[in-house]
Amino acid sequence: GITLRGVGRRFGPHDVLVDVDLHVEPGEVIAVLGPSGCGKSTLLRLAAGLDAPTTGSVAIGDVAVRPFDPRCAVAFQEPRLLPWRTLRENVALGLPRTHRRRTAAEDARIDELLALVGLSEFAGHRPRAVSGGMAQRASLARALARDPHVLLLDEPFGALDALTRLKMQDLLLSVHAASPATILLVTHDVDEALQLADRIVLLGPADGDTGSSAAPAGVRSVHVVPGDRPRDRG
Ligand code: ATP
Ligand code: MG
Repeated sequence: GITLRGVGRRFGPHDVLVDVDLHVEPGEVIAVLGPSGCGKSTLLRLAAGLDAPTTGSVAIGDVAVRPFDPRCAVAFQEPRLLPWRTLRENVALGLPRTHRRRTAAEDARIDELLALVGLSEFAGHRPRAVSGGMAQRASLARALARDPHVLLLDEPFGALDALTRLKMQDLLLSVHAASPATILLVTHDVDEALQLADRIVLLGPADGDTGSSAAPAGVRSVHVVPGDRPRDRG
């Protein structure tokens, strides 16, 4: 799991996140919903160790997350692949970093992931030569290649057409059933949040306008509500 304690993030004069407490259980899927600009991507970057909180702490177990933490893998709305490398080599970039040659087991794992996301036939293509949806699938496979404790997804399906999005949602559910990483999924899609998440974090709108009289001015409300995903664990 991953734990955020009293996390705040300030950019110049703007408190984007204030005092966020969130504990995600191991294997739990959390969706983060909220209006544009409310700090979802900021929250995800903090959870991934790609950005440091101004206050508070982020930890997996008892150990603080750090930049390029091997326990975390991230996928964004746009694939962010290296254009001069093949899809296969891009997926391989997700493997935990080593200084030796790839092992046969690692090569087999890459092939398995390419097959999982339906890209076996396109493994030798460069990102420019495939569709956006295919590039996005490669990006998800690259994140899975890390075999992360915590998988952080920032609107990973937002740019996909409706049918591809449904397929990717199913894929994510089956991947999670086979190997239940902790997942933090930022999405604008309420249906997606309900379908995929155990719990949904609602990140409140702008300062003071939280709809909650209990929240001091400047504090964004963090509500956690249950999702619809059938629990497959005891
Ligand atoms: P969207 O739904 O549009 O993706 P979001 O909820 O992901 O929005 P963030 O990208 O986290 O929102 O941004 C939250 C606020 O923090 C915005 O006002 C944004 O301008 C500000 N912000 C984010 N990153 C930085 C930065 N590096 N420097 C300054 N301000 C930033
Ligand atoms: Mg965002």
